[in-house]
Amino acid sequence: MGPHRAKSSIVNIDIRIKEYAGIFRKDAGIMFCIYCDKSVEWRHKSTINSHINVIEDMVEAFLNTDIPLQKIDQLLPFFKKYLKEGGAISKAPTL
Ligand SMILES: [Zn+2]
Repeated sequence: MGPHRAKSSIVNIDIRIKEYAGIFRKDAGIMFCIYCDKSVEWRHKSTINSHINVIEDMVEAFLNTDIPLQKIDQLLPFFKKYLKEGGAISKAPTL
């Protein structure tokens, strides 16, 4: 509602969510990661990309196992658990 709007930044949350379809969802004007249910700052692509990198690493880790990608859905609680600490994962979990 305020006049705080820079002309150059025409990007909005809807554009971001479209850009990263299937990874983020919008809730009350906040962008949430579908995988770990964390809110992610959408204004800066670098923030988004570093968050996505973590997810991609994990998906890749699962792809290297025999777990079908469809099963990732069922692993959401698992993602949530390991991404709780600000998305910082130093080591892939050993299954
Ligand atoms: Zn996430």
